[in-house]
Amino acid sequence: MVNRVVIAGAGHAAGQAAATLRQRKFTGEILMVGEEPWYPYQRPPLSKKFLAGELPAERLHLKPDSYYAEANIDVRLETRAESISRKDKSVSLSSGETVRYDSLILATGAVVRRLSLPGTDLRGVHYLRNIHDVDVMRKDMLPGRRMVVIGAGYIGLEVAAVARQLGLDVTVVETESRVMSRVVSSQVSEFYEKEHRSHGVELRLSTGVTGFSGGSRVESVNLRDSNPLRCDLVLIGIGIEPNVGLAAAAALEINNGIVVDDLCRTGDPDIYAIGDCTFHPNAIFGRSVRLESVHNALEQARTAAQNICGEETHYCDVPWFWSDQYDIKLQIAGLSQGYDQTVLRGAPDSRSFSCLYLKNGALIAVDAINSPRDFMQAKPLIATKASVPVDLLADPAVALKDLCVQD
Ligand code: ADP
Repeated sequence: MVNRVVIAGAGHAAGQAAATLRQRKFTGEILMVGEEPWYPYQRPPLSKKFLAGELPAERLHLKPDSYYAEANIDVRLETRAESISRKDKSVSLSSGETVRYDSLILATGAVVRRLSLPGTDLRGVHYLRNIHDVDVMRKDMLPGRRMVVIGAGYIGLEVAAVARQLGLDVTVVETESRVMSRVVSSQVSEFYEKEHRSHGVELRLSTGVTGFSGGSRVESVNLRDSNPLRCDLVLIGIGIEPNVGLAAAAALEINNGIVVDDLCRTGDPDIYAIGDCTFHPNAIFGRSVRLESVHNALEQARTAAQNICGEETHYCDVPWFWSDQYDIKLQIAGLSQGYDQTVLRGAPDSRSFSCLYLKNGALIAVDAINSPRDFMQAKPLIATKASVPVDLLADPAVALKDLCVQD
């Protein structure tokens, strides 16, 4: 019988897990422990509307602060879960307290990947992961200043777009030969490169950074093969890493994240893990994955909470992601890794098109650019591993929802 649930972490996944427990009529104690000073909030707007100053901080929060007391969820902010004793079923907190659990949910998320190069400690060199990071960086983002963004992934490119909107001069430095290479095909990279250039962003692709120079503040980014880039501020956006230290110290299995099953349970039946920190099976793709995805965080949170409430629930969904840059919405469904064919639906020049990814004739992913209908309608095709005729896929006049399964 579960009387007490402890949640390590107080981010998106943690907040949803606590809320679902209450929605499912869990009447025991819930204790949520988070090291940040904020109640659970949404991170995606941090590099988009929140950075642009178009969304106030209150709107980031998942629930009003009063919700947690009303729902009898005990939240300890600015508190770390330091260690787990699986034998005693307890967690030691940075406050000095030790709390017992019947079920423990690890929702420890991810930490930014850091660059270990000379000069990263200079003022004006920023990382972006939480509200505080944005507040500090935004003060530096004054019109006319020169900003260098390291990394042309989602974070780097979203920040570059906002920085242009705020009137900064922007250069993006990327080690790979194209932008967003981790997730999209070369056709989609090309489209985004063109958009950023047309908005005045300078892209330095296939370029290595060797360090940062300056007095007390950063003044230049040093490059391996060319002259230093003069700048007033820098954002380093080179990805995130799962935050697995707590789980690893408790001898839970780690493999590219905390290993869980489709019930979101670790090898210890009383310990669950959810969100960006997990490496979990996905039956649609027939392999385990680690996802940096709000949708995954919310669904794993619901799954873990329902299983704790005794409602056996198996998690299996088509992953999805999005990115906003300028007036372009990129929505990705599925996982494109391992594709053997791509099909374009519509023309990139129209700024509304999709890139579909196939493997052995079946649709495995879609990048929908200003094309929400393709995004929605591709999901069931991906989930059912439908084989779809390429000529029909390529015809924007044929709705994806009308494509029948051909086995
Ligand atoms: P995020 O979602 O945080 O943007 P991604 O993994 O999508 O993370 O993108 C990070 C990008 O940073 C990738 O395109 C990667 O090639 C790039 N990158 C990683 N290390 C460096 C580096 N040292 N210099 C420049 N770019 C880098």
